[in-house]
Amino acid sequence: MNANARPRTTIIGAGLVGSLLATLLAQRGFDVEVFERRPDPRVHGFLGGRSINLALAERGLNALRKAGLADAVLAQAVMMRGRMVHPLEGVANLQRYGLDDSEVIRSVSRGNLNILLLDAAERAGATLHFDAALADADFSNATITLAGHDGTSRTHHCGLLLGCDGAGSALRAAMAKAIDLGERIEPLGHGYKELEIPSINLPSMASGGSAIPGTGSRPFPGLDDASVAGMTMERFALEPHALHIWPRGHYMCIALPNTEGNFTVTLFLPGEGAFPSFATLPDAAAARRFFEQQFPDALALMPTFDADWNAHPVGQLATLYLDHWHLGGRAAVLGDAAHAIVPFHGQGMNAGFEDAAELASLLDEDTQDSAAVFAEFEARRKPNADAIAAMSLANYIEMRDGVADPHYLLKRDLAAALTKSAAGHFMSRYRMVSFTSIPYATCVARDREQTALMESILKDHTGLDDIDLAAAAKRVRQTLPPLPEGA
Ligand SMILES: Cc1cc2nc3c(=O)[nH]c(=O)nc-3n(C[C@H](O)[C@H](O)[C@H](O)COP(=O)(O)OP(=O)(O)OC[C@H]3O[C@@H](n4cnc5c(N)ncnc54)[C@H](O)[C@@H]3O)c2cc1C
Repeated sequence: MNANARPRTTIIGAGLVGSLLATLLAQRGFDVEVFERRPDPRVHGFLGGRSINLALAERGLNALRKAGLADAVLAQAVMMRGRMVHPLEGVANLQRYGLDDSEVIRSVSRGNLNILLLDAAERAGATLHFDAALADADFSNATITLAGHDGTSRTHHCGLLLGCDGAGSALRAAMAKAIDLGERIEPLGHGYKELEIPSINLPSMASGGSAIPGTGSRPFPGLDDASVAGMTMERFALEPHALHIWPRGHYMCIALPNTEGNFTVTLFLPGEGAFPSFATLPDAAAARRFFEQQFPDALALMPTFDADWNAHPVGQLATLYLDHWHLGGRAAVLGDAAHAIVPFHGQGMNAGFEDAAELASLLDEDTQDSAAVFAEFEARRKPNADAIAAMSLANYIEMRDGVADPHYLLKRDLAAALTKSAAGHFMSRYRMVSFTSIPYATCVARDREQTALMESILKDHTGLDDIDLAAAAKRVRQTLPPLPEGA
């Protein structure tokens, strides 16, 4: 395809999805312009507002590979091997996500990742405009109105319009004036607040075997200390290579490691209602009393708790469903602008990256009929967006409640056993979602079949010891077809 035949492309939003899409399209010879509401984070610092670090999984990494960026991102990520579950009483235990270190997720800094992607987009030839918020779009005349923070506004003649401007998308709002997009937003009723476990400042500590406050001595001597460049193990107040969870039934805390040695802690709690809810924790003193009761080990590692509590607002969580993702061949939305989800599977960015890779590839194949490309894009991605939305909601219950439930743990152990003994026919939902690129909708369908089979195998059993695992594996191989490609 002649690069000159490629339509001009205008991307709204230079967040994670917008900057990856800009990179992928510019690498394919598209003339790409990006308009971002915020100032350039490389000049003014990253004005986050949303989670400070994120879990990157295989499918997100796969999209980054297509842009040639996976290695650069991995170099600034912290590997997480599993969930470190902190009960209210007793010792923390690691529930591995996968079978070995080839099956891990990674904690990445949102700000650093965004900056890496912006640099990549510019290197590939995209033109980035900052302090340029989309205010309105005139689809008939192919123009957009952009507003600066100083109140100035200007009109710009745009090409194909692609909205990567997040959950509150202004492009989606403009499209909704032209057609009914079938938009539905379902609030979760739970919010989140970010806190911090800082790194330990121990310049003279010798490496290896040192005591880690809050966990006694190194809790997992069998786990090696593979680290990213510049990461000093002794600086971490908790096991670095894990996603920490303090499940407490209807609510929970989690903590993800950062390369600097600190952890970003997120408290998820109902917004309203009886104690404990954000409404019942009006100030840092009340929140501290709550943490003393429910998360004493975490609180002990949070010297700036009061200041963090006061400084960080409560974030809202909701799922966005959208029936139509495009306006003929003129505009389309992707990433959170099309399908914002709750964060409990750690997949929002990963799903958005898959969107970007899919759309770039479809546009690359057919640059003439953008309406057909957008329709195909929606047909391929929407069922998967709906599937990960449902799995993310289900995972909240699993994380805050299930990880401490004996039947859940039994199923998890059976799943691990069947993964080995019926390889190629069985894989847990978490592993399909996190360590493969099997479409999300297929993961849901497959998980439904597998769960039904496991429940039937576990019927009348309270442990794995009295189950004939060889017979169970045979039954799995006979009942379930081989796993699809991408597993
Ligand atoms: C608490 C929390 C934890 C999360 N954890 C994970 C995780 O572990 N793993 C994971 O994969 N996902 C996670 N997510 C989801 C992830 O943050 C989103 O899915 C991801 O940021 C979506 O990227 P995006 O580029 O579509 O949107 P955004 O990241 O929201 O970016 C949108 C961009 O558009 C810009 N913009 C907005 N309006 C305009 C406008 N009018 N004009 C121009 N520009 C505009 C914004 O400034 C921003 O730069 C989490 C989300 C939350 C809230």
